[in-house]
Amino acid sequence: MPELPEVESLAAFLRENAIGRAIARVDVVAISCLKTYDPPITALSGLSITDVTRYGKFLDLDVDGLHLIVHLSRAGWLRWKDKLPAAPPRPGKGPLAMRVHLDDESGFDLTEAGTQKRLAVYVVRDPQEVPGIRTLGPDPLREEFDAGTLAKILDGRRTQIKGVLRDQSVIAGIGNAYSDEVLHAAKMSPYKLAATVTGEEVATLYEAIITTLGDAVERSKGLAAKDLKGEKKSGLRVHGRAGEKCPVCGDTIREVSFADRALQYCPTCQTGGKPLADRRMSRLLK
Ligand SMILES: [Zn+2]
Repeated sequence: MPELPEVESLAAFLRENAIGRAIARVDVVAISCLKTYDPPITALSGLSITDVTRYGKFLDLDVDGLHLIVHLSRAGWLRWKDKLPAAPPRPGKGPLAMRVHLDDESGFDLTEAGTQKRLAVYVVRDPQEVPGIRTLGPDPLREEFDAGTLAKILDGRRTQIKGVLRDQSVIAGIGNAYSDEVLHAAKMSPYKLAATVTGEEVATLYEAIITTLGDAVERSKGLAAKDLKGEKKSGLRVHGRAGEKCPVCGDTIREVSFADRALQYCPTCQTGGKPLADRRMSRLLK
C-alpha cells in the first residue's frame, strides 16, 4: 500500500514527465472509483497539467485550475506508459480502473488489484472539497512539523501510539508499514499509550518519523513509478518481515493483529524482550 514516501515519489515522477502536457482523454473503466460528478471528468480534456503535489497519501494533479485527485488506497497503483494504446479499454474484471491519455500518446493507468475496490478519484475545483483531505492532520515532511507539534498531538491522548501514527486526521501520510518502521526506529512499543510518551521519547519518536520517511523518499528519488513498490519493500526493516531477524539486534521479528491489520515489531528493541499479547487470539479463545 502506497504511503507518504511512495506518493511523494509518484508526484515527483509526474512532475518530471507530465507537467506541461495536456490531458487528451480519460477512460473511466471502473465507474465506482470516480467519487465526484461536478465538474465532470470530461472537463479535463484539453487542459494542461500545471503542477503535481501530495496531501498525505493523496496525489493531486493540478489541471489548469481543476484538480484530479487520486487516493490509491490499499491495492491501487499508478503505471506510467510512454505509449498508451489508443483504443478505449474494455470494462472487465481486470485491475485497470482508469486510463489518463496525454497529448503525446503517453499517460498513465490507475490500477487496483484484488476484489476490494477502494481506489478513489475526485475531480474538484479545490482540493479541500475532498473529505479525506479536509480532515488531514499535519504533514510530517512539512517544515512546520516539529517536535513541539508532535508533543501537542500526543498530549493527553489515551490511545496506543501505533493507532495514533496511522490516523490520517492526526498525522498525514503514515500508514501500516511506516508506522511499524517508525516505532522500530524509535525502539517504542506499538501498544504504548500516546499520553505516556515522555519529553525525551517525543524527541526520539520525532527523529524516527523524520528519518524513516525522509530516507524512504530519498531512496525512491529518480525511480520510475514501476520500481517504487520493490524499493519500498526492500527498504522496510520490520514491516512484513515476521520470522526474519531484526537487522539491529538479531532477535526474531514478531507479528500481532492490530485493528483490521497485522503489525510487526522486534521484542528486544521495542518491548523489553516480551512478546506482545495478540488480542484477537485471546478474544477468540475466550
Ligand atoms: Zn531488534
